[in-house]
Amino acid sequence: MSDTIVIAELSKGKISAITNELVTAANQLGSNCTLVVPCNDSAIANDASSISGVSKIIAAKSGVFSNYDAASWAEALDAVSPSGIIVTSASTQSKDLAARLAARRTISVVQDVVEISNDGTVLTSPVYSGKALQSVKLSSDAVVSVRANVFSPADNSGSSEVQVIDTSGNVTTALKEMVQRASERLDVSEANIIISGGRGMGNPGNFSHLEEIADKLGAAVGASRAAVDTWDEIPHSMQVGQTGKTVNPNLYIAVGISGAIQHLAGMRSSKYIVAINKDADAPIFQHADYGIVATWEEALPILSSSLSNLLG
Ligand SMILES: Cc1cc2nc3c(=O)[nH]c(=O)nc-3n(C[C@H](O)[C@H](O)[C@H](O)COP(=O)(O)OP(=O)(O)OC[C@H]3O[C@@H](n4cnc5c(N)ncnc54)[C@H](O)[C@@H]3O)c2cc1C
Repeated sequence: MSDTIVIAELSKGKISAITNELVTAANQLGSNCTLVVPCNDSAIANDASSISGVSKIIAAKSGVFSNYDAASWAEALDAVSPSGIIVTSASTQSKDLAARLAARRTISVVQDVVEISNDGTVLTSPVYSGKALQSVKLSSDAVVSVRANVFSPADNSGSSEVQVIDTSGNVTTALKEMVQRASERLDVSEANIIISGGRGMGNPGNFSHLEEIADKLGAAVGASRAAVDTWDEIPHSMQVGQTGKTVNPNLYIAVGISGAIQHLAGMRSSKYIVAINKDADAPIFQHADYGIVATWEEALPILSSSLSNLLG
């Protein structure tokens, strides 16, 4: 069995809970899992020391990890990672990184894996916007990106030592600064509950009604591409779909979204889908577990006050 290397997923400078799921996937693909934590402060890696099923943790310390840049991250991570099967998350950034790492090592990349079978040799991932599943056989080392909320997370009863390796000297170029639109809100790719709005919200100011419900549920707010393209106030980072983010939450609430195939491609694997749309024939209802035929103006205030009564 090949050794495995998990690249820890980070969120706001901390190790994200998805990392525990990646460790589970890695242990199905091979053995002797090394967890590599990209960081510029190695203290971050201490949070990973309790993850079970990890043989070794490497805190890959470098200034390049302050800002994401595929080339420099791949260069630095390649330098510290042993050979074997590399596992990353299937976030937009990590899929990009997975491809770069595979290219550096001239090994295959398998993206968006949702199932591992046959003792870790067969990997299944959705293709054609989620309309079909593709299975590939793994016969040598590869880089494998794994979808969130598919594999059960490894528990936190382990204790691994953290080895710090400074990789700064290995990197030829690095991104010095990235200016981002400030947002306090949870990102859709990390959320367990998402409420998304489409063109049917009428104007961007009406997204405040979605935010109000999101705050009650601890949810992220997403959007269709029509909403993102039409209104500057709705950033691309909120877009769910084929050319946006792929999400896999437990609950996805689609409000004023018709359910075009390209939107479905990013959210159809959500555990429960609730749709609110004034048109009973909107395609989203064919994929929804619960459908409310109403305008959002009618439905959202009722949902909001019911949640207040329920959650206090
Ligand atoms: C190559 C390509 C890639 C694409 N990638 C993406 C992608 O990543 N993500 C994405 O979302 N789209 C993507 N699209 C666009 C996609 O085809 C659709 O155009 C888009 O998803 C439609 O967004 P929408 O549902 O918000 O708008 P519409 O299709 O206009 O639907 C609006 C819906 O709101 C309902 N509505 C109107 N008023 C109300 C109200 N008051 N209350 C309740 N409901 C109301 C209407 O009945 C309607 O169903 C892509 C398209 C292409 C060609």
